[in-house]
Amino acid sequence: MALKYSNKINKIRTFALSLIFIGFAIMYVGLLFKDIAWLMVVAMILGMIAILFSTLVYFWIGMISTKAVPIICPSCGKQTKMLGRVDACMHCDQPLTMDPELEGEEFDESYNSKKRKTEQ
Ligand SMILES: [Zn+2]
Repeated sequence: MALKYSNKINKIRTFALSLIFIGFAIMYVGLLFKDIAWLMVVAMILGMIAILFSTLVYFWIGMISTKAVPIICPSCGKQTKMLGRVDACMHCDQPLTMDPELEGEEFDESYNSKKRKTEQ
C-alpha cells in the first residue's frame, strides 16, 4: 500500500498530545520573559488554555471511541477501532472499509462525507 493514511483516533490523540507540549512550550517562553510581567501572564494563560483544550480533546476521544467499531485488522491481525466508513488500522495503517461496495476501490477520505453518500 503506497497510500499514507493513519487511523483517525490515533491522529486526534497525537493532536492532543502535541497541544500539551505546545502549552508547556508557551509557558516556558513566558518564564524566559519574566521581566516583562504582562508578557509572562499572557504566555501562562495561553499555555494553560492549550493544556485545558488538550484535556477536552482527550475527553472527546473517549466519547468517540465508544462509537468506533472494534475490528480485527486483516493485515496485521491486531484489534483496531475505526471511525466512519473508511479508516486506517491503528497498528499498520492498512486502509479499512466498512462498506463492501468500496472494497478494492481507491482509498479516499471523501467516502466519509455526507455529500458522497447522497450521491449514491
Ligand atoms: Zn493492522
